[in-house]
This record gives sequence, structure tokens and C-alpha cells, in this order.
Amino acid sequence: MKLPGLVDLQVNGFAGIDFNNPALQTEEVEEVCRLLYAEGVVGFLPTLVTNDFDVIESLARTIFAANNSSGAMILGLHLEGPFISSLPGARGAHDVKWICAPNFNRICYLQNIFRNKIKLLTFSPDWQDSAKFVEGVCGLGIRVAIGHTMATQEEITQATNAGATLSTHLGNGIPNQLSRHPNPIWAQLAEDRLWASLIGDGFHLSRDIFQTIIKVKRNKAFLVSDSTMFAGMKSGQYQSSIGGDVILTAEGRLSMAGNENLMAGSAMSIRMMIESLVRNNWLNFEEAWELGSIRPWRYLGGRGWSEQVEISVPESWC
Ligand SMILES: [Zn+2]
Repeated sequence: MKLPGLVDLQVNGFAGIDFNNPALQTEEVEEVCRLLYAEGVVGFLPTLVTNDFDVIESLARTIFAANNSSGAMILGLHLEGPFISSLPGARGAHDVKWICAPNFNRICYLQNIFRNKIKLLTFSPDWQDSAKFVEGVCGLGIRVAIGHTMATQEEITQATNAGATLSTHLGNGIPNQLSRHPNPIWAQLAEDRLWASLIGDGFHLSRDIFQTIIKVKRNKAFLVSDSTMFAGMKSGQYQSSIGGDVILTAEGRLSMAGNENLMAGSAMSIRMMIESLVRNNWLNFEEAWELGSIRPWRYLGGRGWSEQVEISVPESWC
């Protein structure tokens, strides 16, 4: 079956390779490109999370040195942090040590040395002068997303007025316990100008909120894998650099070994998510495929359809 290729705007790693590992090698990035292409992904944004700026710069150099002509295309970089909320729950697995206030000069410098290849920046709009920062970053040709935040409705509106266009993994990167209203989820759901990315592995969001976000955002919702290096690996217990061992179940749920209630990131590619969403009757196949292909493609400014790929689809999906 010929289908529009999948596009993944949030990939932290895949198949044992971690883009945030300071020892990352360019050949490993090329390997991820090949493996993701085999999963039907035609383009993706490697994602670097909150870290020391020197490490971010060095990792980006390694990533952009990759020759990906035989695999999924690196469409640019997604910087998730370091200008996020430092509050527990909101910051998720990001290292609080490197979280800092928005620094426009740093982003400007990176965008210059990497020749406009930074495509997306996720930040929290509760920092001072956020609106000015958003305007500046948008002026560099970078799309701005709101995420890992406990920002107020007013702060979210101001960031959107200034040019923010996306909620990163809406419903995640937020404390378990929230005021019933107002809270940042309602504020972002109600803001029509914001697109929403969703982690559709069946574990990060419950069926009710997943379907609610899709209904509210309509053609502005899309899937991201937010995959870690454990995606594409066999079930089992593994050592993780994010603090302790992790357990990956056969169903694809990744949690900390010491506390299985604590998620440790996603362990699925977009194709695996689509398979799980369809199998569990969360979405039909056409909807799920669109959420993983042309929607993120269009969010990035692509026209028409992403490259077509030949995919063998089990009959049970359709
Ligand atoms: Zn995140």
C-alpha cells in the first residue's frame, strides 16, 4: 500500500541510540535514519532536551554531520528546553540543573552556526519577558511550542499573540495533581491558534483525554513519538542514563524499575503507535495515519503530501 510518509517532530533516540548521550556518534545518527525509514518515517526532528549549552551545540554538530541520503531525512532540530518550568511534575525527566530563563542570544548563536536548521523550540511561557522572546525566536524562522509548563491562561495567550503555534505533547509534562480549573491544559485546549502534539502510545494519555484533544484541535492535532533509545528494543529491564533501571513491557510501556507508576518516556515509533491506536480502537487507520504523516508535515510548513512510502499494512488495521 502506498501512503504518505510518516513525519516525527520529536525523536530523542531509537533502537539503543540516544541523541542526548554526549558520546553520540554520527554513524549512530545515520543508523537511526535508516531504521526510522524502515518504519515508514520519511522525515524527523532529532530532539535535544535540557542540557548545558555546550553539550547541546556539540550534539547538534554530531547530528548535522550525518549523511542521511539512505534513510529518513533530518528536517532540522527540535530543542526541548532548557527554558522550561523547573517545577517538579512540569519539568518531567529534564535535569533541573540546566533549566534556565530564556536566552535569545544563545538561540541566535545556534541558529547562525547551524544555518537555520533549528526548526522548533519548546519552552514555558511563565518566564519574564516571554512574549518578546517568542517574537525574537519566530523572527529567526523557528517555530515556538509551549510545553513543560504551569503557565497561566494569560501567559499562554500572550505567548500565542507573540507567535507560539504549538502545544508540545499536550497532557504530559505537567504535574499529576492540578487545579480542576483554571489549568494550563484547558487554556491550551481553548486556544484555537495552537496546534497540539500527542504521545499516542496508549500509556502517556488515557483514551478520554487523547480523544478530547483530537476532537477539539481537529486538523491541528498530530502524533509525536517522543521516542527514547528504548523504542524498537525487546521487552526487558535496561540501564538508563536518566536515573536508574527501566522496564519495557511487551506492550511497549516503559517505566522506572523502582516505581512502575513513573513513566520513563516512550518506547514506540510513530508506526508502532498507529498500530496500537488502531488495535485498541482509539482511532481508525485513516485517521491515525493522517495524524502521523500529513498533519505534522503541514505544521512544519510542508505543502501537499510528504513523500510517499510503500508500507505493508496488516489487513486487521483497515
Ligand atoms: Zn517532553
